[in-house]
Parts: sequence; structure tokens; C-alpha cells
Amino acid sequence: MAGLVGLALGSFLNVVITRLPQGESVWGGRSRCPQCRSPLSWYDNIPLCSYVWLRGRCRSCGAAIPWRYPLVELAGGLMALALWHTFPDKLLLLAYAPFGLALIALTAIDLEHRLLPDAITIPGTILGLLLSLVLPQLSFLEAAAGALLGAGLFYGVGRLYEKWAGRRGLGGGDVKMLAMIGAFLGVWALPLVILISAGLGTLAGLIRVLGQGPGDRGQWRTISLPYGPFLAAGAGCYLFWGERLLNFLSGGG
Ligand SMILES: [Zn+2]
Repeated sequence: MAGLVGLALGSFLNVVITRLPQGESVWGGRSRCPQCRSPLSWYDNIPLCSYVWLRGRCRSCGAAIPWRYPLVELAGGLMALALWHTFPDKLLLLAYAPFGLALIALTAIDLEHRLLPDAITIPGTILGLLLSLVLPQLSFLEAAAGALLGAGLFYGVGRLYEKWAGRRGLGGGDVKMLAMIGAFLGVWALPLVILISAGLGTLAGLIRVLGQGPGDRGQWRTISLPYGPFLAAGAGCYLFWGERLLNFLSGGG
């Protein structure tokens, strides 16, 4: 059941990911083929299944449906399954389900548009703070400190980088996304989230540099990658394995 709900939520996320960067309303309006704009009937809009039996093409115009659609649906389903298994205390899902969905949406939008929309990160931060007040399992102090420190740290690092490299490194969107992560996961999560995301980002940057021709290798300073997906990966790792990782690092096994 959790997986099916996740697939449906993933399908809704696709609507958000397609419409939000274009300034369209996320609510209401039938789903349409992005190519020919013909409205989709319900049976062509079933998560994963429709993609398979349409063989990845629009029924009306035959345009290829981007890979992102089934991938995001699958990500929603797997996220829901993982959350359901990881947290026996289902009340916590009130916080971690919207958080997980926001991470998937931000990842996809950043990859497609190099953009982390305020329309997700700011309400996300507020929601994280509010839920930490309401849910006894969460601490408001840790959430508030997480949001403040997350935003402050990244803002500071961004300014330093600008001075050193003479160009913008971290965008304002990254700052707000880390504030949101701090609000949901609390201040103690931040060192590990930053460590993991920086590690993965460096690795991806290296792969990019090595993949370029030898003549371009001097250009490593100008390599730029969207950072949102790495932040999301760091936050996801912490959400699912944070306690085990911290135990491991502190030698507790
Ligand atoms: Zn079409």
C-alpha cells in the first residue's frame, strides 16, 4: 500500500516538476502531453504502467515521454516504501513524507533547470519548523537551530567562494534548501549531510573533469554542477542511515 501511495505521489511530483518552473498552477487542469498538449486520459496516466504499455511514447503524437516521468514515479514509490519500513512510529511520516517528496522534486528541477524554487524550499522550511512544534518526537530548538545554521553556513561558504574564485558558487537556492534540511532533520544532522553531499559532489566533479578532453583539464575551476541533487542525497542518507552512521563514526558499532 505504501509503495502504491508513493507511486501516485510520484506522479503528482511530475506535475509539480513540469509546471512549477514555468509558473503554471500545480493544482487543477488535466495532465497534458508536454509536446502536443493533448490531455491525457486516466488510463494513460497510471504511474509506471502507462509508461510501459505506451512504450514511452505519447498516444496522440508519438513524442518520447522523458525518462524523468517513470524515474520520479519510481523514486516516489521507493521513498514511500523505505520510509514505511524505517519508521515504525508512523506519526513521524507526517514530517518525513513531505520532506522526502520535496527532496525528489528539488533534485529533478535542479537537474532540468538549474533552479531550486523558493516555492518549495521556503514553505518546506516553515513546515519543518511547524511540525517540530507539533510532533513530540521532534525538537523545535534543534529544528530552528538547524534552519538558521544551515542557511548561515552555506551563505558564509558561498561568500568566501565568491571572493576566492571570483564567481558565484553556491546559489541562494542551495542556502534555502539547506535551511529546509536543517528544519526537518535538526541541527545535529547538518555536519553529516554536508560531508556526504560535498563528498558526492566532489566525486561527480572529478568524473566530469576526467571525462573531458585533455586540453580542457585546466578548466576544473569553471566546472559547475547543480548542487541540489547532492544535498538531497546527503539528506536522504541521513534520513535512512543517520543513526547507524553516527554510531559507526563514534565507535559504537
Ligand atoms: Zn503528444
